[in-house]
Amino acid sequence: MNLDSQPGHIDQIKQTNAGVVYRLIDQHGPISRIELSRRAQLAPASITKIVREMLDAHLVQETEFQEPGSRGRPAIGLILDTDAWHYLAIRLHRGAMTFTLRDLSSRELAEDTLPLPDESARPLLTALIEQVDAFFIRHQQKLERLTAIAVTLPGLINAASGVVHRLPGYQVRDMPLGDALAARTGLPVFVQHDISAWTLAESLFGASRGAEDVIQIVIDETVGAGVISGGQLLHKRGRALVEIGHTQIDPYGQQCYCGNHGCLETVASIGSLLALAAQRLPTQPDSLLHQQPLTLASLCEAAQAGDRLARDTIASVGHHVGRILAMMVNIFNPQHILIGSPLNAAADVLFPAVSNTILQQSLPAYSAVIQLAPTAFSEPGTLGGAALIKDALYSGYLLVKLLQG
Ligand SMILES: [Zn+2]
Repeated sequence: MNLDSQPGHIDQIKQTNAGVVYRLIDQHGPISRIELSRRAQLAPASITKIVREMLDAHLVQETEFQEPGSRGRPAIGLILDTDAWHYLAIRLHRGAMTFTLRDLSSRELAEDTLPLPDESARPLLTALIEQVDAFFIRHQQKLERLTAIAVTLPGLINAASGVVHRLPGYQVRDMPLGDALAARTGLPVFVQHDISAWTLAESLFGASRGAEDVIQIVIDETVGAGVISGGQLLHKRGRALVEIGHTQIDPYGQQCYCGNHGCLETVASIGSLLALAAQRLPTQPDSLLHQQPLTLASLCEAAQAGDRLARDTIASVGHHVGRILAMMVNIFNPQHILIGSPLNAAADVLFPAVSNTILQQSLPAYSAVIQLAPTAFSEPGTLGGAALIKDALYSGYLLVKLLQG
C-alpha cells in the first residue's frame, strides 16, 4: 500500500491522535508522558512529538506532581494550558442573543445579552455580524488569541454547512450563518441546534458526564431531543435534533403546525399543557387553579400542593413522553435519560409518570438500568457553545487548526 497517495488518511490519524491526547490530559492531568502513552495506546515517540507541538502552541504545560503510589521525586506531568486561547460562544434564544467570551477551560470572561434585532431595519445576518464586531471591540482589553466561534439556536439547522434554514419568529430562509461569520472573522465557526448542543453540554459538564449513551429530552414551548450514541452526538454533522416532538401520539389528535395530526408536541409542549388544564378547569370546581391565573408556575405549584387537576395534567405529559422514550430506549439502550424542562419544578409528578411508562413499554433488560434525572443546567446559556468547542478539541478537528497556528 502506498501511503503517500493517502495524505487525507494520515491527516485524519494525526488529528484523531492529537484529540485523544488532549482529552486524556484534560481528564487525567497532571499525567506523565508514559501514562499518556499507555492510555492513548500510542508509542512514546508519538506522544513526545504530539506533546511538543501542543507545548509550542500553548495548549498544554508541564507541572511537577507526585505520581499516585510513588514516594520518590516529583514527576513531570502535563496539564492543559487554557488561558492563552479564547473563543466566543453565542446563543440565540427567546428573542435575545447572548455573547460569552470563554477561555479553553470553558471559564466565562465576559458576557453580554442583547435583544435579537428585528428584521425590519436590516437582515438579521448583517445585524448579527455587526454585534459580533461590537462585542470584540467592547472587550478588546481581555482578548487573547481567538480560536473559534460557536453558535447555538433553535430552528432548522444544518450543522455541517452552518446554514440556518428556519429560525422561529423570524423570516430567515437558508441563512449562511457559519460561512458569513467565518468570512468576517477568519475563525472556524460551529453552528448547532440549541437542544443538541445542550445535550453535549450535559455530557461534558453536567448530569450525563462520562456516559456513552444518553437520551436528553427538552419539554418547553417545543419538544425535542438530543441523542449521544457511543460517545458521539447523533447526526452531529447534519441535523442533530431528534424530532420526537413530531412523532404521532394520537392519529385522531389536533393538527400540528408541521402538517401532521396528533404529534407529541400537540399534547406535551408547555402551551398545549396549559391549554389542556384550562379546558379541564370548569369540570374541577375544587381545583386550587381557580384561585390564581393559570401559568406554568401556578400549575407546578398546585401539583406540588396535591391538586388533582394539576397532577393529572402533568402526569399525562409524562405518559405521552414516556411512550416515545420507551421506543427510543429499545433503539439506543441509553445509560441516562435526562429531562430538561420548566416542568422539572414538579419533578415528583412528572418523573414517576415518565419512568413507569418506560418500564411498562420497553425491554426490561434495557429499562432496568437507566438513570432518569433532570438536566444539571435548567438554563444552559452559552454552555452549549462551550460544549461544541470542547467536542471539536477532543475530536482533534479544532486542535489541528490551532497547532497549525
Ligand atoms: Zn408536528
